[in-house]
Amino acid sequence: MIYVHVPFCKSFCIYCGFYSESLSRCGGVKAVEQWAEAVCAEALSRKDEILSSIGTDTLYIGGGTPSVLPLSVLGQVVNRIREICGKKGEETFEEFTVEVNPDDIVKGGLPYLEGLRKLGINRISMGVQSFDDGILRWMGRRHSSSDAEKAVELIREAGFTNLSLDLISGIKGLSDEMWEDTLEKTLSLSPEHISAYQLSVEEGSVLDEMVSTGKYSEADDAQCERQYRILCRKLSDAGYVHYEVSNFSKPGKEAIHNSAYWRRAPYVGLGPGAHSLVGERERRWNSETVPSYSSSNEILSDEDLRVERVMLSLRTAKGISEEELVRLCGRNNVRRMLNEGSIISSGSVIRIPEDHFFTSDSIIRELL
Ligand code: SF4
Repeated sequence: MIYVHVPFCKSFCIYCGFYSESLSRCGGVKAVEQWAEAVCAEALSRKDEILSSIGTDTLYIGGGTPSVLPLSVLGQVVNRIREICGKKGEETFEEFTVEVNPDDIVKGGLPYLEGLRKLGINRISMGVQSFDDGILRWMGRRHSSSDAEKAVELIREAGFTNLSLDLISGIKGLSDEMWEDTLEKTLSLSPEHISAYQLSVEEGSVLDEMVSTGKYSEADDAQCERQYRILCRKLSDAGYVHYEVSNFSKPGKEAIHNSAYWRRAPYVGLGPGAHSLVGERERRWNSETVPSYSSSNEILSDEDLRVERVMLSLRTAKGISEEELVRLCGRNNVRRMLNEGSIISSGSVIRIPEDHFFTSDSIIRELL
């Protein structure tokens, strides 16, 4: 299970808190090539770790915006990782995802998408966020709603059968009607997977600055909850499985890579800003600097492990075994929350019911 972080974007979205550099300001093609060299060297030096993590056979290229990379540079990194993992000929990972921006897909067209397929990529995750052009402009996205539609058309034409679209709700200027329109447009494109997040104000983002200078005030809880409920209803009516608080899929199309994060499977993160989980309790991360970066680590305490395990498992529809939750949170605590109905028990498993997903963070806090 391998993650590669591509820390480059062509422009910045106002809400973004991820580590990324502006491609034009950090040295363009030269910087990208140096990044690829550094990632290949890191992959080689962590070969044993990579080999012990491929019980989950996934490769995820995220960012940043991986679709700003020339195919030759992406190919250099992918081929090095394939080689290390012993993938021969056409053999690829069970799930091999790349994150893309609609604008890059439209500009690159079928030749670019065919290039991605040749690298063995079998799943595309595209940041659509909204089908409202006013909202997209406000967010600082560099694509329009028609670019997103066109991109989906091209992705299908190129033969990709596993597509995930990202959406954002809970924006002050987003009315329920606009949100419903975005969801209807999304459903008409029939993606296999949908991730839908509520807008949050990330420290250091442009939005954070806008909040502190009074240029933006956050949507209230009632709007966020209404829009979350609209999302759950519409996607469930359309046959999607709500398998994690922010994630929905057609049956059998749950994200294998992300599901493994939620199980706390070990993974190797390559590239500046990438995190790794080594064994059960070593968290390692690379510094956020290009082209060269260094790594640091920490050993998680029993308390860290307890919090992560409860938090990650209870955000999923699979939940956690009753025996484990009682061990981690205490019998009386679990019993009280069961009586209140904020968690439910089916068989030997405890989970948060879907109609309480919106308040899952506070339910988990109370349990902990
Ligand atoms: S949201 Fe994605 S595309 Fe936008 S700035 Fe952040 S990493 Fe780049």
